[in-house]
Amino acid sequence: MEISEEEIESYRKAGKIAAEALEYGKGLIKSGAKLLDVSEKIEKKIEDLGGKPAFPAQISCDSIAAHYCAEPDDETVFDKQVCSLDIGVHVNGFIGDNACTVDLSGAYSDLVKASEEALKEALKIVQIGVTAGELGKIIQETISSFGFSPIKNLTGHGLSRFNIHDKPTIPNFDTGDETKLEKGMVIAIEPFATDGMGMVYEQEQGNIFSLVQKRPVRSMFAREILKEIEKYNGLPFTTRWLAKKMPLAKVGFGLRELLRAEAVRSYPPLKEKKKGIVTQAEKSLIIGDKIEVITRT
Ligand code: MN
Ligand code: MN
Repeated sequence: MEISEEEIESYRKAGKIAAEALEYGKGLIKSGAKLLDVSEKIEKKIEDLGGKPAFPAQISCDSIAAHYCAEPDDETVFDKQVCSLDIGVHVNGFIGDNACTVDLSGAYSDLVKASEEALKEALKIVQIGVTAGELGKIIQETISSFGFSPIKNLTGHGLSRFNIHDKPTIPNFDTGDETKLEKGMVIAIEPFATDGMGMVYEQEQGNIFSLVQKRPVRSMFAREILKEIEKYNGLPFTTRWLAKKMPLAKVGFGLRELLRAEAVRSYPPLKEKKKGIVTQAEKSLIIGDKIEVITRT
């Protein structure tokens, strides 16, 4: 795989901003703070640092593993939740994706450590030629050593221009996948640990979407939204962003039509099947003769 020096520079910039925004956001998640305010502040920080959100700020609490994004009128106030903060930034389409967990309860430090250590152990063995299955195996073993389970149906992934979930898939357990990491790949490794059963399911309602394909739609609202979301180049966006441009009722109506027409797809919140608490850790890296973690400050 080929990756140019110019592309690497964009990845580095995106990664650095993503890591800075993550650190900033981590400091804002405190009992009494509003999830909506924290999300908006993080997204503003990304823009201030010269990047763009690769997806809306996601703060998934307790049994929600991923894909919880503030509603336009979100009333969630942080109290004693276990919060997974997941931040993605792009620069010219090149993405840095990273995540951490903030435990406001004080009761889940081992569970937080389990996903962090799993990521550290995976980073120790990652190199050209290592297989996806080997990475999954070490993640699983590390999380199990803490007495917890990895979430098996959530994975790390490749990154490419304007594409957050490219090949290869990096599993969080030993799948035996023999896909080898190659020079020039950019990947995100993201272990999830839980005291539940280790599986998530999609909840019904979601507010994160991405454009699949432009299709003819009838209503003015849907057409207006299509026009607005073109600028995301297929990257995810959220209802809250659209609600800054048009009335919320219009947004809802238009999005429903776009979903029916399969012009957009949605990413509903992912909840642990046995309501286990979930923690997450994630970093993005470039695979080369030397491994370069791009999401660092
Ligand atoms: Mn990711
Ligand atoms: Mn992420």
